[in-house]
Amino acid sequence: MILSTHAVVGGAIASFMPGHPVLAFVIGAASHFAIDAIPHVDYPLHSISVKRSATSALTLNWLLVQDLGLITLDACVDLAIVLWLYASPGATTAVLAGALGAMLPDPLQLLHKLYPREPLRSLQRFHAWSHTKRRLSWPLGVSAQLSFVALVVGLRAILA
Ligand SMILES: [Zn+2]
Repeated sequence: MILSTHAVVGGAIASFMPGHPVLAFVIGAASHFAIDAIPHVDYPLHSISVKRSATSALTLNWLLVQDLGLITLDACVDLAIVLWLYASPGATTAVLAGALGAMLPDPLQLLHKLYPREPLRSLQRFHAWSHTKRRLSWPLGVSAQLSFVALVVGLRAILA
């Protein structure tokens, strides 16, 4: 799942609890695992993988730099979109916390690669377990994810 889907869901949930950024962060993080369970397509990362079989060694090379650049760009664009969608005076902190919490488990995988010890090891095991084993093809996966984001944005607009 690309980070934007997680960020939009986390931000949308957080917008319902503007005075509770810590709760928004925790619920955002929990939503990550629920959404990862939905069959989807991930953009190809060359150095980082959620797969249990992936090697634990992470070497600093051009592929890692490319992956980090892609993740950072994705996260920044997503935060901007979520703030544009849901930030309001009094809700900005919670929306930011919800979106960051929802994205956090993915960068923690990278941290687990660098530091494969507890509690990151258990978290990685849970992440791999909760993540769907079904990979969709690119066109189907991308359109399913865009539809899901549109559904979340639409539901939030109706419920707000
Ligand atoms: Zn994930």
